[in-house]
Amino acid sequence: MDSSNENGMSTSEQRWVYPFSEPDGPGRDLLGGKGAELANLARLGLPVPPGFTITTEACRHYLSTGEPPESMWAQIDDALSLLERESGRTFGHGEIPLLVSVRSGAAVSMPGMMDTVLNLGINDEVVGALAHNYGPGFALDVQRRFMEMFAEVVFGVSREPIEAVKADSLASAGSHRIEELEPADARELLEHLSSVIQAEALRPIPFDPRDQLKQAVMAVFESWNTRRAKDYRAHEGIPDDLGTAVNIVAMVYGNVDDESCSGVLFTRDPATGEKRIFGEYLTRAQGEDVVAGSATPLPLESMAEAMPDVHKEILDVAARIEAHYGDAQDIEFTVERRQSFILQTREAKRSARAAVRIAVEMCDEGILSREQALLSVPADQVYQLLLPRLDETDAAQARDNGRLLTVGLGASPGGVTGVVALSADGAVKLTAEGQRVVLVRPVTSAEDVHGIIAAAGVLTARGGATSHAAVVVRGLGKPCIVGAESLEVRADLGQVRCAGKTVKAGDEISIDGGTGEVFIGTLSTVEARVGEEHHLARLLGWADEFRRLGVRANADAGPEAALSREFGADGVGLCRTEHMFFEPERLDLVRQMILAASAYSKWPEDELNAWRYRQVLKELQGIQSDDFEEILTAMDGMPVVIRLLDPPLHEFLPSHEELLDELHEMREQHASRQDIAEREELLAAVDELREANPMLGLRGCRLGIVHPEIFKMQVLALTDAVRALKARGMSPRPEVMVPLVSDAGEMNAVRAILEEALRDATRPGDEPFAPSIGAMIETPRAALLADEIAESAEFFSFGTNDLTQMTFGFSRDDAEGKFLVRYLETGVLQRDPFQTLDQQGVGGLVKTGMAAAKRSGRVLEAGVCGEHGGDPESIDFFERAGLDYVSCSPYRVPVARLAAAQAAIRRASGNSES
Ligand code: ADP
Ligand code: MG
Ligand code: MG
Repeated sequence: MDSSNENGMSTSEQRWVYPFSEPDGPGRDLLGGKGAELANLARLGLPVPPGFTITTEACRHYLSTGEPPESMWAQIDDALSLLERESGRTFGHGEIPLLVSVRSGAAVSMPGMMDTVLNLGINDEVVGALAHNYGPGFALDVQRRFMEMFAEVVFGVSREPIEAVKADSLASAGSHRIEELEPADARELLEHLSSVIQAEALRPIPFDPRDQLKQAVMAVFESWNTRRAKDYRAHEGIPDDLGTAVNIVAMVYGNVDDESCSGVLFTRDPATGEKRIFGEYLTRAQGEDVVAGSATPLPLESMAEAMPDVHKEILDVAARIEAHYGDAQDIEFTVERRQSFILQTREAKRSARAAVRIAVEMCDEGILSREQALLSVPADQVYQLLLPRLDETDAAQARDNGRLLTVGLGASPGGVTGVVALSADGAVKLTAEGQRVVLVRPVTSAEDVHGIIAAAGVLTARGGATSHAAVVVRGLGKPCIVGAESLEVRADLGQVRCAGKTVKAGDEISIDGGTGEVFIGTLSTVEARVGEEHHLARLLGWADEFRRLGVRANADAGPEAALSREFGADGVGLCRTEHMFFEPERLDLVRQMILAASAYSKWPEDELNAWRYRQVLKELQGIQSDDFEEILTAMDGMPVVIRLLDPPLHEFLPSHEELLDELHEMREQHASRQDIAEREELLAAVDELREANPMLGLRGCRLGIVHPEIFKMQVLALTDAVRALKARGMSPRPEVMVPLVSDAGEMNAVRAILEEALRDATRPGDEPFAPSIGAMIETPRAALLADEIAESAEFFSFGTNDLTQMTFGFSRDDAEGKFLVRYLETGVLQRDPFQTLDQQGVGGLVKTGMAAAKRSGRVLEAGVCGEHGGDPESIDFFERAGLDYVSCSPYRVPVARLAAAQAAIRRASGNSES
C-alpha cells in the first residue's frame, strides 16, 4: 500500500494492515503469531493462499474506544484489491468469486479460544458462480457453512436452533450427512436457516460482502473477550490487553470432492515426542471440522493409499517447515482437488515427555545445540513428566475383571482416577468441593476450557487429538483421551453408557492418556522415576554440566531424602527437625517434654520436674538420633542442613477448646482425679503457650534461648548419629541451622549453647566433630544486619517463605484465603509473591544479605530454602544474585536442575533480565 494521500502528499499515516506478500512486515506483536508465520511461510515460497493481516494495535484501538481506527477500512479496501489481483478472483461478484476467511490470531497462541469466520463473501448471487465452477452441491454447502459461522460468531446465535433445523432437514430428506443433501433439499435448508437466524438475531445476514467483512472483523476483535479466551489467559498468565490480529485469507476448499480434504499435523508426536509425523484429516471437509473437535478424523497415514503424491508433498512441506523453525510444528493444511495448501503453522504444544524427547533428539540430530535444547523445555514442565501413571498390574487386573469401559485415542499421557463430571461447570463445582474430577464430554470442544482447567483429566466421545481442546489439555499436562466413539455421553440423564455398561456422574473412573484406556472404578497409580525416563535423564545430565547453582532438597526424613537423591539433589538444604516430632506415637513424649520444659524454666530448683525433663529429653534424643542416622545415610557424602526446632511449642499441643471439652466430659463421667489433674496441667500449658500471632512469639532461636536444653538435646542426637555412621565407614556431612534469627546477639547466644553441647557430647577417642553453624535469614532485620550476624555464622540460608510474609506483613494462609486472590484479580499485585519471588522487595533483602555474606569472608555458603527454590523465575533471580544453591521439595528437584542450567546459560549469554 502506498503511504500517500489523494493529493499525492506523503503522510505519516499509521499502518493497520499488512499483506502477507509484503517483504518485511512487522513481527508477531503486531501481526499475531498466525499472521506473522503465514507471511513467513509465503516468503519461503510455500503454498500459502494469499491474504493480509489487520494488526493487534487496531484491535486494541477498537476494544478501548469501541471504534476501529479511522483509516483502517480504507487500508482494508486497498489490501482487498491487492488480494483480488494476487488470487485472480473478485470479491463479491464476477466469474471466479473470491471468498475469504476472517481469522483471529494473537501474539501468544491460544488455540481455538477466539473466533474465525470461513467462506465469507458469499450471497445468493455469488453462489451461482461458485456452483458453475465447482458444482451446486459444493456451493450450497459453502453457503450453509458461512451462514452458520457468521450467525454464531457475529450475531452470537447459539448452536441449538441451528442444529435443530439441520436435524429436521436431514430427517425429512432421509439423509445422513448434511454435505450429501440433494441441491433442492439443501436450498430448502438454507431458507430455513436464514429465517431461524433472522428470528434469533433480529436482523438478516448482510447481503453485501463488504458489510459481511466489516461485521466479521469487529466480531473477531471482540472475540478477544470470549469467556473461554479470558479463562485461558487467566490460567496461562497471558496479559489481557494484547488484543488479537485479524487475518483475511483467500479460501481454499477441502470440501470440493473426494480428492479434497482438510487436516492438522504435528511434525513430531505431541504426546510422546517420537520423530514421526502425527496427523489427522477429514475428506470432503473444511479445517474447522477437524479443529473444532466435533468429528473424529482419520490418521494421516491413510492418505498415503488414496493420494500418495499429495501425502508425500505434505510430508515434504512439513519437514521443510520444521527445519526452518528448528522446532516441532503444528500445521494446518487443506487439499483442494489434490493441490495442497498450508494454512497455519505454530510451535507444537506438546506433553512434558514429548518436550524433553524432542529437545534431546533435536540436539542429537544437530538441529539444536545443548544450550538451545536445554532452553527449549519449559523447566516447569519437567514436573508434569514425573506425575503418576496408572499401575500396570492394577490395569491388567481391571481388564480381566471386565472393568475396561472403552478405548479411545490417547491424546495426552498420564493416568488419573477421578469422579465423572458431565459438564464443564460441573467439573468446576466438584473440583471446588475438593474432588478429583474427570471431565467427560460428547465432543472435544474449546468451549469447555474452564472445566478443562479445573479437571484432573478429560475424556471425550468425539474429536481428534489435533483438535484445539486436545491441544489445550496437552499444554496443561493433564491426561486426556478423545474420540472414544463407543461412549454415549448423556449429560441430560447424568450418565455415560457404553456397551451395556452405565457410569453415572459422580462415579469414579480411571483414564490412561497414553493407551487411551478408560476403566470403571479406582486404579492405583505409580510415580514415574527419572532413571526410567531415558531422555529426561540425559537432558538433566546436560543441565548439571551447565548449572552453577547447587540444587538441594527440602526433606525431613530418610525416604524423602532418598527420593530427592534419585531426582538428582546435591544434598538436603532444609531438614525440619520438628517433623520428626509430629508423628502420632511421638507426640505424647513431645508433650511431656513441653510440660517439663515450661515447669523447669519457672522452677529450676524443682528436682523432680528437672529429673522428669532430663528423662524425656534423653528419650527424645534417642529417637531423633535414629532419624538423623536415616537421613544422613540417605544423603551419605552430601551436605544436610539440619534446622533446629522452629515452631512455637503450642503447635504440638491440642487446642484450648478441645481440652475444655475433654475436661468437661471427664468431670461428667467422674474420671480419676489424677487424669483430670493431668489434663488441667496441659490446659494451663496451652493457655500459657498460645500465641496471639502464630508468626511471632516464642519460636525459632528464641525457643532455644529460653529452653537451651532442647537445642542441646538436638546437638547431642546429631553427634550420636554422626559417631554411629562414621563407625560404619560413612561420611555424614550435617550442617546446623539456627532458625528465625533477627539479631547477632541471638546468633551468639545460640552458638554458645551449641558449642557447649558439642563439647559435652565429645567422648574420648571421638574424631573432632564441628559441623558448620549457620543462620536462617528469614526476617527483614536479619537481612539488613547480615554483616553482624555473619560474625558468628558459617553459612546463610534465606528462608524466603517467612521473609516474604514478614516483608509484606501478610501471613501466607490469610493472604491466600482472603485478599491475595482479590489482589491478583484486580492487578494490585501482578504475581503471587509466595510462588514467584518478589524481586524488588524480598529480592532486595536477599541481595543485601548476599553482599554482607561476601564481605564477611566468614560466611562460606548461602542458599535459599523457601518454595521459591523450585520456581524457575525465582531461580533465575538467585543465579543473578550469586547464591550458591537452592533447595526445594523433592519433586521439584528436576525442575530446579533444569531451571538452574537455563539461568546460567542466559546469564552467560547476557540474556538474563535484571
Ligand atoms: P483457529 O485459531 O480456531 O484455528 P483458524 O483461523 O486457524 O482458527 O481457522 C479455523 C480452521 O479453518 C482451520 O482449520 C483453518 O485451517 C481453516 N481455515 C482458515 N482459513 C482458511 C482458508 N482461507 N481456507 C481454508 N481453510 C481455512
Ligand atoms: Mg488454527
Ligand atoms: Mg521460618
